[in-house]
Amino acid sequence: MQELVITNLHANVEGKEILKGVNLTIKSGEVHAIMGPNGTGKSTLSAIIMGHPKYTVTEGSIKLNGQEVLGMEVDERAKAGLFLGMQYPSEIAGITNSDFIRAAINSTSETKESLIKYIRRLDSAITDLKMDSDMTSRYLNEGFSGGEKKRNEILQLKMLKPKFAILDEIDSGLDIDALTVVGQNLTKEMEERSGEFGMLLITHYQRLLDHIKPTHVHVMLDGRIVKTGGSEIVERLEVEGYDRYKEEHGIEDVKEKRVSIGNCATSLGVNGNGSNN
Ligand code: ADP
Ligand code: MG
Repeated sequence: MQELVITNLHANVEGKEILKGVNLTIKSGEVHAIMGPNGTGKSTLSAIIMGHPKYTVTEGSIKLNGQEVLGMEVDERAKAGLFLGMQYPSEIAGITNSDFIRAAINSTSETKESLIKYIRRLDSAITDLKMDSDMTSRYLNEGFSGGEKKRNEILQLKMLKPKFAILDEIDSGLDIDALTVVGQNLTKEMEERSGEFGMLLITHYQRLLDHIKPTHVHVMLDGRIVKTGGSEIVERLEVEGYDRYKEEHGIEDVKEKRVSIGNCATSLGVNGNGSNN
């Protein structure tokens, strides 16, 4: 059994506290969903799990099977079995998708996979994802549509077979058919490897969770997980939004809070909605 344990995680970006004590334990066989309004720190949490240098962790720990992850470089985290499917995947000209994925496999796994076996697996994964076969010979994400980039993240997941995958808004940019395909592929991955694979899905919408059933649902507000439960939370959010959770936890809207601390009041007046996204 695999276990990813996040304890009392606090983190800053540019001196601003974003994560304010996140606690989360994910085990293999589990599908966790984090839902929360824009700007609450969901992408921050995923980037920190993977080791993005932009963020400073000020307190807490992230342990993978008992081993502290926070001191590790990004490549060491990937070797240890962590995978991040990004909200905004980068385009990299000059390296083909196929070469990129093969290099990633070779640098994260102990054993070297033969080229024949690799191509066979890649072809089969491309077919499963209903992607065009020329996607493998094109440069990584270059000119890919939003939906193609997201499918490509799932292709990497299928090929790399990580212990834990964090998928940050993997559903954004996907049309309804693509969403079904991605959901089916993630469900299949989980069924085939449930003893050694766990997932963290970050999403705004119920629609992805219709295709891949979460075992745990968390509501994140203002840098903390304020509620954990099952699918009933998703249904409640669809109907009521986040206001009820905000009230229950005494969390003010970003706009009110910023004004109350006398910060950015002028710029809030300009953009008018207090949104920082
Ligand atoms: P979410 O994914 O939940 O929408 P993010 O984790 O992307 O939220 O962002 C959390 C907060 O961190 C936002 O208020 C965002 O503006 C802020 N933030 C992210 N990067 C920076 C940065 N470089 N400087 C200042 N604030 C940042
Ligand atoms: Mg985000």
